[in-house]
Amino acid sequence: MNFFRRIFFPILFFTFIFPLHAFDVDELLDDDGLSNGFTHFLRIGIKTEVSSFSLEGDAEIKNKNDKVLSSVQGRFQISAQSGGIKVGNRVFKEDMIKFSSELIPLKVEGRMFRGEIEVYLKNSKLIVVNKLDIEDYVKGVINKEAIPSWPVEAKKTQAVLARTFAVYQKMFNPRSTYFDLAPTVLDQVYDGLGKEDVSSVEAVDATRGEVITLGSNPAKIYFHSTCGGTVSSSAEIWKMDEPHLQQLSCPYCSKSSLYRWTRKIKPADLAKKLGVKSVKSLKTVRGKTRVESVVIDGKKMPVNKFRELVGFSVIWSNDFTVSNSGGTFVFTGKGAGHGVGVCQWGMAGMAKLGKNHYEILKFYLKGIEIRKMY
Ligand SMILES: [Zn+2]
Repeated sequence: MNFFRRIFFPILFFTFIFPLHAFDVDELLDDDGLSNGFTHFLRIGIKTEVSSFSLEGDAEIKNKNDKVLSSVQGRFQISAQSGGIKVGNRVFKEDMIKFSSELIPLKVEGRMFRGEIEVYLKNSKLIVVNKLDIEDYVKGVINKEAIPSWPVEAKKTQAVLARTFAVYQKMFNPRSTYFDLAPTVLDQVYDGLGKEDVSSVEAVDATRGEVITLGSNPAKIYFHSTCGGTVSSSAEIWKMDEPHLQQLSCPYCSKSSLYRWTRKIKPADLAKKLGVKSVKSLKTVRGKTRVESVVIDGKKMPVNKFRELVGFSVIWSNDFTVSNSGGTFVFTGKGAGHGVGVCQWGMAGMAKLGKNHYEILKFYLKGIEIRKMY
């Protein structure tokens, strides 16, 4: 009973005295069945179709039924054999083995990973999967996606975005039967725990289990570096009308170095990048808020194709104008990225003005809620 009293009375006390405790209850709903049958781990395909790779650590080797086959210590090479997986000099006649370490994260090709490393044999090649807790994954990605010096509320916002993205992909759009997410820009950039730092870990812990929802499901979320003043709707940019991805004006991202930009390109250099003989005239066709296509000597090209050929880090966004100055094309643009969803420099700007991560998310994503999934 004493134990119950010790736990129960403080809970009662805080419930009545501070009913809103650390945050506004209106901002954070309970899980409402969201986590039914959901497990907290994610599978990241860190290598696909390789013949061999190196693994380092002090690990148990198990098969797919969790039977311990052996243990290894140190650094060794793992390679695909016909009918088995070779670890050091020993061949395991299995189509899947996994390595787990209680103490120190394992290293794959010199990079450290929390959780387990699963190795699948498929068509004489190996698929290497890092299976880990979602929270550990989010700690690994947020400093890859956010700027380390951003205020903590911006990092919390990014943590909730990264977690929601991962949960959505796992539930509705896994990359393959072997893993849920790729470790690249296809999903979110992840290379283990090498990028964790104290403030990103704090931001993840402070938002543990928080997921953005639309109705009763995790929302499909998008973010980009800098909108340049106007966030565009998904209907305009991708012809895909999503209720939470609407056009809005963002007055918060002017501190981004790409809020406004200019790039000068000589016609001969541009022709080379576009794979044409020459470029004499260049015009843009605008949609509601951004360029839809570029007309090169009378020929139309979708703006994304144009950006891909000229360089995504030359033409930083699809909001630009083009002029000709003394024979050189001058691109004058606003922002960086596709411009849909959350503007990351804007969220940093809002955090600096004292807004919390619930307010930031609700500003950019219309009609969403934030629920604690676990
Ligand atoms: Zn913005």
